[in-house]
Amino acid sequence: MDGKLRVRFAPSPTGPLHIGGARSALFNWLLARKLGGQMIVRIEDTDLERSSRESEENILDSLRWLGLDWDEGIAAGGDYGPYRQTERLPLYREATDRLLANGSAYYCYCTEEELEAEREALLAKNETPRYLGKCRNLTTAGRERLVAEGRKPVVRFRVPDDQTIVVNDLVRGEVKFESSGMGDFVIVKSDGIPTYNFAVVIDDSTMKITHVVRGEEHLSNTPRQILLYQALGLKGPDFAHVSLILGKDRSKMSKRHGSTAVEQYRSKGYLPEALINFLVLLGWSPVGEEEIFSVDRLIEQFSLDRVAKNPAVFDLDKLNWINGYYIRQSPAERIVDLAIPFLREAGYVEGEITPANSPDKYKWLTLMVKSVQEHLAYVAQITEHVGIFFHDDIRFESEEAREILREEQVPQVLDAFQDKLAAMPVVDEGSVKALLKSLTKELKLGGKKVYMPIRVALTGQTHGPELFYMIPILGKERIAKRISATMANL
Ligand code: GLU
Repeated sequence: MDGKLRVRFAPSPTGPLHIGGARSALFNWLLARKLGGQMIVRIEDTDLERSSRESEENILDSLRWLGLDWDEGIAAGGDYGPYRQTERLPLYREATDRLLANGSAYYCYCTEEELEAEREALLAKNETPRYLGKCRNLTTAGRERLVAEGRKPVVRFRVPDDQTIVVNDLVRGEVKFESSGMGDFVIVKSDGIPTYNFAVVIDDSTMKITHVVRGEEHLSNTPRQILLYQALGLKGPDFAHVSLILGKDRSKMSKRHGSTAVEQYRSKGYLPEALINFLVLLGWSPVGEEEIFSVDRLIEQFSLDRVAKNPAVFDLDKLNWINGYYIRQSPAERIVDLAIPFLREAGYVEGEITPANSPDKYKWLTLMVKSVQEHLAYVAQITEHVGIFFHDDIRFESEEAREILREEQVPQVLDAFQDKLAAMPVVDEGSVKALLKSLTKELKLGGKKVYMPIRVALTGQTHGPELFYMIPILGKERIAKRISATMANL
């Protein structure tokens, strides 16, 4: 490689950033960060109907949220701009003129109907549909006649006959394609807008991209791009095509398999570092058994040699496991901030709650989050766990739960518990642990005979957060009210 590595992420802004796109962005970014190269983001918006600024913003937002920053490109500037394809039309025009002049491209005046008829005829003969080159050798007179009919031409690339095109893929090794059967493909549409295969070549070469790392779905485009580099007398970049992402049923990952957009995970309360950790394992395998990787370790260890050729399988359980790990590792305050919108939506809290504007409430929420933090796969799940802290009217979850409070030792346990609690100057994790211990000791009862009735009396449930978390969160007063209400309800 001459000079520095330059890689790019080149999304089409036709929807939100998808898992597959995020993975391509990540692999490029890791290479750039590892090798001290440049990461470029370019917007491929030549599909005028489907592209939108809204999608562009969404993609950039998701990249920023993931922490995948870029050194050059859209919204960052740089020496090779503009970085949006629709703003680069003069560059494509100039390259088109060169290809037309050296005979590598020609105008084609065929109508949709003519092309469709050709397609059907080939299909009927069991041949691959392709353009057979009707306009390849038009005479000037022939062309003038078609222009006079008011036909608007496209520009096609003249694919050389019988050439084997070799892609030396950094992931897949040598992949060979035959030019015959390819058909002369369109490089500029009749409205003057270049096609993807053409624009990408002009952009990657003018932006001095050294390595193109992208999804396997683009592998079949690569021989066309290589032919264009040849015809323009340019040296192309190195290519690496990363395998498809499949759902658990081994079909291509789609909405059927769950959320495909990064923003959907963000809005459920997944953490960006967890998604990064998960995405990298969709194709890259680390040397050992370890599966948890900080971004810094990934930058250190990532390499294309350990990117697999076989498809990656998207496993939501694994993402949940990784995300749960990062949630447990996070300071409770971080999870509180992420949880507040979900709690608000569930009607548990109102308005903005910050340590500055509501210190007591914030502190209380922090204790609450700590009590359930280890059970969360993603933050939105918090509302399923914390109902017990908001509803004082206790309902027994089952007859069995009610039965527990009818055991003979229960009145004695609850009385002793309440006496001790009332006498405690500070109710916190440590003091409650001590209280519970002394209770079993003094009553000479097994832990279960003591803890379970307290739990059921306070919540109506036989499971939930640890008592030493729950008791300080509820506080003396609510505990006293709950116990008398539940016992009255037996
Ligand atoms: N715009 C293309 C896409 O979003 C990128 C293709 C490429 O990386 O060359 O799929």
